[in-house]
Amino acid sequence: MKNGEISYWRSNAGASSANWPRLDEDLNVDVAIIGGGLTGLWTAWVLKQRDPSLEVAVFEGEEIGYGASGRNGGWLSAKPVGMRRVLARGTSGRAGVLAIDRVLASSIHEIVEILGASEIDAHHGGWLEIARSRSELARIKHHLMDAQSWGVEPERVRLLGAEEVRNRVKVSGALGGLYSPDNYRVDPYKLVLAVANLAASSGAAIYTSSRVHNVTDGRRLRVGDFTVRARQHIVVATEGYSGRETGRSRSLLPMNSAMMVTEPLTDEQWRMVGWESAEGIRGVAHTFFYGQRTPDGRIAIGGRGHPYRFASKLDHDGRVDEKTVTALSNLLRDLFPQVSARPVHAWCGVIGVTRDWSPFVDTDPSNGITRVGGYAGQGLTASYVGARIVADLLCGKSTELTELPWVRPMPRRWEPEPLRWVGAHGLYKAYSIADRMEARRDTERTAWPARLADRIAGR
Ligand SMILES: Cc1cc2nc3c(=O)[nH]c(=O)nc-3n(C[C@H](O)[C@H](O)[C@H](O)COP(=O)(O)OP(=O)(O)OC[C@H]3O[C@@H](n4cnc5c(N)ncnc54)[C@H](O)[C@@H]3O)c2cc1C
Repeated sequence: MKNGEISYWRSNAGASSANWPRLDEDLNVDVAIIGGGLTGLWTAWVLKQRDPSLEVAVFEGEEIGYGASGRNGGWLSAKPVGMRRVLARGTSGRAGVLAIDRVLASSIHEIVEILGASEIDAHHGGWLEIARSRSELARIKHHLMDAQSWGVEPERVRLLGAEEVRNRVKVSGALGGLYSPDNYRVDPYKLVLAVANLAASSGAAIYTSSRVHNVTDGRRLRVGDFTVRARQHIVVATEGYSGRETGRSRSLLPMNSAMMVTEPLTDEQWRMVGWESAEGIRGVAHTFFYGQRTPDGRIAIGGRGHPYRFASKLDHDGRVDEKTVTALSNLLRDLFPQVSARPVHAWCGVIGVTRDWSPFVDTDPSNGITRVGGYAGQGLTASYVGARIVADLLCGKSTELTELPWVRPMPRRWEPEPLRWVGAHGLYKAYSIADRMEARRDTERTAWPARLADRIAGR
């Protein structure tokens, strides 16, 4: 089985980022963007749309899509990003949260329209949360009530019975589900390459293998041996990698998420699994799973695995530890015991999590630096929205987007080590214990370790 190598999506594409040069001279631009993931690339494109005369350059330390953008589960969804109750504390209150919900809902279709469904293997199948125990069933009912309390229309999220879930996808032990049409399944690597090509064709410059070593006031960047001067702005779009920047190790917690893909299933095996509409599926255990039926007929499944590395350390090109590989293989067998689908590739990546689990667009006119991210694992649509907010702010426009509650200073920092490590691992352990308790006990009540963990995590 392949392990790491960025991701299955990256290996399958067989492409390389050889098209994009490394920076080999000093450079002056109007806007310098750090990070060649979806956020950085969308920002470059939207800025060029707003003002074609702007000189915009993206600097990526590795290759396009090296980060989470090239490794994710491929859910292009309108699920809420961050915590509504946290975002409602902003000046726009509840109205701001409803506005962001609307923007996310329309953005999924806009993205597919801009890039072309066939370019990114987009399939509009919705998402399906699957409950496999009585407490999970109670939880999805609670999720529905919560969505309704935020004004989500009945056609955008509804409960399904066990039979209705099984008619969609035959996951073992399904007792019910929550379905929403607001999701496209995509090939995430094709998505990030398509955005890179779009940005480049609009006139933005893209440099790969060009890591930014420091961001200083005075709008200067050190990139390898060269200096880049940004006449107007610097945009930092480094999400889960942000902790590497000097003095910012506690800004965003790089939380790990791991995935595994099987060999292609035969037609007979697909008959046993169903999943004809290619919904994005997700569990509602505390240590949840997520998955998709890939465009090339495989099962891709993901989960937390090893949650966090001490001192915000990062993985090596997506390499996964043996324990996580075993856990994902067991999960696959548990979900689909009717088929023996051999796993062929496992990998992992990091998502950027803020201390209040909610995103930010933090712009500081005094030093020209704008920071954007903190999508906590929901960045495919959010990166497009974040980029549009950044572009409006940088162009000095006051729009509906610049009023959204994501526009705020970065939340307070994470705790220093070893508290951060103990906290992340302790919470994950508590959630795992709660899942086991809930599976054993036939009760609707969420197990106490999870309730306690939610309270500590502020979720
Ligand atoms: C396994 C996994 C599954 C996920 N599944 C989903 C999903 O199904 N749906 C969803 O919506 N979201 C999902 N996410 C989250 C989503 O992928 C991210 O939120 C999104 O891709 C973030 O994009 P980004 O551009 O902000 O960050 P990234 O894609 O992480 O890009 C940051 C880039 O910055 C570069 N960089 C960092 N520091 C520097 C520097 N100093 N100089 C130059 N470059 C630098 C990095 O190399 C990296 O390429 C998942 C994430 C993971 C890891």
